[in-house]
Amino acid sequence: MSGHVVALSGGVGGAKLAHGLALSLAPGELTVIVNTGDDFRHLGLHISPDLDSVMYALADLADPLRGWGRRGETWNFMSALTALGAENWFQLGDADLAVHVERSWRLAQGWPLSRVTAHLCARLGITARVVPMSDDPVRTRVLTGEGWLDFQDYFVRRRCEPAVRDFEFAGAAAARAQPEALATLARPDLRAVVICPSNPFVSVEPILAVPGLRAAMLASGAPVIAVTPIIGGRAVKGPAAKMLAELGLDVTPAAVARRYAGLAGGFVTDASDPAPAAVPGMQYFRADTLMVTREDRVRLAQEVLRAADALRVARAADVADGDAAEDGCAGETSPM
Ligand code: GDP
Repeated sequence: MSGHVVALSGGVGGAKLAHGLALSLAPGELTVIVNTGDDFRHLGLHISPDLDSVMYALADLADPLRGWGRRGETWNFMSALTALGAENWFQLGDADLAVHVERSWRLAQGWPLSRVTAHLCARLGITARVVPMSDDPVRTRVLTGEGWLDFQDYFVRRRCEPAVRDFEFAGAAAARAQPEALATLARPDLRAVVICPSNPFVSVEPILAVPGLRAAMLASGAPVIAVTPIIGGRAVKGPAAKMLAELGLDVTPAAVARRYAGLAGGFVTDASDPAPAAVPGMQYFRADTLMVTREDRVRLAQEVLRAADALRVARAADVADGDAAEDGCAGETSPM
């Protein structure tokens, strides 16, 4: 099946599947809508960690060992900064810094974030479209036992140590969904919407909090399918499992699937996990979801696309059965 695919992504986990999708689809067939709730200002620069993770993955520039930032990075700026006694809690590699400076400079010239992102992607040779969820500022904040913390304070400075109680996406209610994101979700040839295995609370839900995006996904009529970030009761990386536990939720794929109930019709769990508890309206699929190598990314992307196509076929069959029943000749619905 061909057609356009939209992926929703946070940073490193989502970026790996977005890369697999880009490698599996023809150039121009993928749009990645990226969380900007983690964006912040640091040392006068505008930093967009998730946009950068997605761009570096798609440009094949990401550091596979460190898990963030660019491969072959050097740290002269950071050493010089530290020698000055300046704030050094957020690591800025030299090549990474060039991206932050260029982004900040273009934004200061009045460019919207989406235009800056398109410009950076073109310079990095990326053929997929990478679109921030909004050009307006949305800032994720985390309610902890110590009160509300800005996301990067919680994530980097405090290393996710404080227990979380709640989240807010400041500015989301007034933010306008990025127009290209909305237009892409309205494409008649939309094949699937993939919710990447990103952190549900601080990567995917900020995107869904931007007015219009969830509705556009539902109105698209395309299958929406999510991939588990939880394997074997643990997050592959980051605080997703810790957050689930601290919020009193099960640390299971089903607990993540429930966050997407009413939106996603499919959910891919890891083949090593037992069958998860049913979620109404959600069909489960199983796959090896751990992406260590480039081949893993491609294999998972292809399995996710196959599952999305199967959802579409099953839905069409349900509709045909419904029509047949209305005509007085009830058919059987084949279980998936
Ligand atoms: P962040 O904004 O950089 O934290 O990035 P994401 O939210 O996109 O990614 C973090 C999530 O990705 C974590 O919850 C991880 O469990 C998940 N993740 C990372 N690598 C993998 C992987 O190889 N497979 C799966 N299924 N999930 C992964």
